[in-house]
Amino acid sequence: MASAKYKIKKNDTVMVVTGRDRGKTGKVMRVLPERGRVVVERLNIVKRHSKPRGAQSPGGIVEKEAPIAISNVMIFCDRCNAPVRVGVKVADDGAKSRVCRRCGEVIGND
Ligand SMILES: [Zn+2]
Repeated sequence: MASAKYKIKKNDTVMVVTGRDRGKTGKVMRVLPERGRVVVERLNIVKRHSKPRGAQSPGGIVEKEAPIAISNVMIFCDRCNAPVRVGVKVADDGAKSRVCRRCGEVIGND
C-alpha cells in the first residue's frame, strides 16, 4: 500500500500544527503520498489570477487549496477535541483499525 507510511487518509479530519493555517481544521480531500502532502478542504488557500478565456471563463481571482506537507498536519480527534497521535489496534480477528493514542477512539474506518 502506497500510503502505508502515512496514517492520514482521505476524509480524515486533520489540524494544521504549523505555519500560516496553524490551529485550523479541515477534511482531507486528497493524499499525495509520493509528495508527502495532503490537500485539505478550505485550508492553505492560494489565490490565482486567471485571464479571461471567453464567455465561459470570465477570469478573475480563483481560490484553490494548495497541498500541505503531511508533517504539518495531525489527525484531529473529536473526542479529545485536539490534534492527536494515531496508533494501530489489531483486533482478535486480525482487523486493523486506527485509534487515538490519547483516548482510544477509533479514527475513521479502515
Ligand atoms: Zn482522542
